[in-house]
Amino acid sequence: MAAEKRERYEESEIYRIRHSAAHVMAQAVMEMFPGEAKIAIGPPIEDGFYYDFDLPRPLTPEDLEVIENRMREIIAGDYRYERDVLSADRARELFADQPYKIELIEGLESGGTDEYGEPIEGPVEISIFTHDTFTDLCRGPHVEDTSKINPDAVKLLNVAGAYWRGDERRPMLQRIYGTAWKTAEELEQYLWRLDEARRRDHRRLGKELDLYSISDAVGPGLILWHPKGGMVRKIAEDYCRAQHLEAGYEFVYSPHIGKANLWEKSGHLDWYQEGMFAPLDIEGQQYYIKPMNCPFHVEIYKSRTRSYRDLPLRYAEWGTVYRYERSGVLHGLLRVRGFTQDDAHHFCRPDQMPEEIDMALQFSLSILRAFGFEDFYAYLSTRNPEKFAGEPEEWDAPTEALRASLERAKLPYQIDEGQAVFYGPKIDLKLKDALNREWQLSTIQFDFILPERLDLTYVGEDGKEHRPYMIHRALVGSMERFMGALIEHHAGAFPVWLSPVQAILIPIADRHVDYANSVGDQLKKAGLRIDVDERSERMNAKIRDAQLQKVPYMLIIGDQEVETGAVAVRLRSGEDLGAMPIEDFLRHAEEDIQAKR
Ligand SMILES: [Zn+2]
Ligand SMILES: [Zn+2]
Repeated sequence: MAAEKRERYEESEIYRIRHSAAHVMAQAVMEMFPGEAKIAIGPPIEDGFYYDFDLPRPLTPEDLEVIENRMREIIAGDYRYERDVLSADRARELFADQPYKIELIEGLESGGTDEYGEPIEGPVEISIFTHDTFTDLCRGPHVEDTSKINPDAVKLLNVAGAYWRGDERRPMLQRIYGTAWKTAEELEQYLWRLDEARRRDHRRLGKELDLYSISDAVGPGLILWHPKGGMVRKIAEDYCRAQHLEAGYEFVYSPHIGKANLWEKSGHLDWYQEGMFAPLDIEGQQYYIKPMNCPFHVEIYKSRTRSYRDLPLRYAEWGTVYRYERSGVLHGLLRVRGFTQDDAHHFCRPDQMPEEIDMALQFSLSILRAFGFEDFYAYLSTRNPEKFAGEPEEWDAPTEALRASLERAKLPYQIDEGQAVFYGPKIDLKLKDALNREWQLSTIQFDFILPERLDLTYVGEDGKEHRPYMIHRALVGSMERFMGALIEHHAGAFPVWLSPVQAILIPIADRHVDYANSVGDQLKKAGLRIDVDERSERMNAKIRDAQLQKVPYMLIIGDQEVETGAVAVRLRSGEDLGAMPIEDFLRHAEEDIQAKR
């Protein structure tokens, strides 16, 4: 969630309801394991809440039902939430048998972390909230009493393992996820969305459609693309490459490692080292695996003298980068350790900068639209008054250029005041998928620092050396994350132009196989990606399998089709287009492909 949205959420009634429901749940769990349940943290989250427990045995789905029923009884008691402030010593006494709370109290006392283990500045007041028999270390806020929680709009969802403080060296706890809404209808709608999200989950579909895998033998967070996923990715990349060329980008390629000195000069070792893997030693010289492509593109720029007439230069690369993420936070294609950025760097004169930013934004939008995304939202991060490079006035022009290009694109956007990184303002482009969920993809980042640090110059009209501007642009961001978004947005049913198999030929009996193969050859020659299902399964089973594989066209072939030189066309939606000559089917398919349907 973006900072401002989160603030609004934390002030809302529903936030207090969810937070209060988390306390009620913790009470019910402690009653289930008297004297044995150890409680950790239990914050509200987007759409619900959770609480982490250390319990003597694993929870079952039946347990959740018992806990949920007990929660309804507690809610019916109309218990008030009472707040109290106390000293760290008193708090330690109160939570003497709760080791996780003791650790949190230390964090509050020393001022390192809050009661959720989140970093804070300076020591804070230690407060507790009590309702009925349950007391929690808590800053609130809560509803006045449990009657404000609608017992028909609360549901416990599932139990998952979660390391204490997200640290895989600490104990594994049981996290119960729950949700709470104001009305039963809202709850129902939410459960529908949850079901739909499960149906679209790229990790499930990735397996079912044989798109990719993550192998223990290779390592966590490292993606293996299978032929079908590889095909979708290749088509997506081919399309993007062609568009890049047309838009005036040039392609460069760079290595996976570079000398420590390069990363020192670029500043990565200063401000990004915790995201980088440990260095390699090659002939006494340290090398790092690249977490970004920028310094390499800068070196290409610097390989010769640049004149004002050469600019702008736009270098693009599908560069695979590696970043360290804790194994506990890795998630399918979304949080990984190796990913391919569709990275580009614009080098331009200051007078060209507004146009370059505008072009990068328009270009990004047009490509994302081609993949079926229509709903975008942008965030503009402006200068952080505490931490910024250059002079404050220098920030005005690029910030204004970014804002103006958002206006011209008629994009809804929000200004994240003071949220920019020190080296320049930026636009983050998010897209909303079919379930209205936000995906962070494109970034257009203005950079004051790198041209300075790496001493980039061009010879101006006046014959003197000048500093060019640099704009980092990642369009879909990470190919892995983008593929995840594509899979979930389309629920695995890719538009025809992206489908790894566009048509499957289904001969009804063995005697139709030869004809099916000859039609298949004809379609292949016309450029379609096809498959022939020669198995001696029943036709209905073949159709069902093709539907599960989300193949756009099923071409069924029986006696009549062989006789008349036709195919009977069925769509994955179940729609039956009937028999048609092969040329007609080809025309139909080509129209769908052209329109990117
Ligand atoms: Zn609380
Ligand atoms: Zn860059």
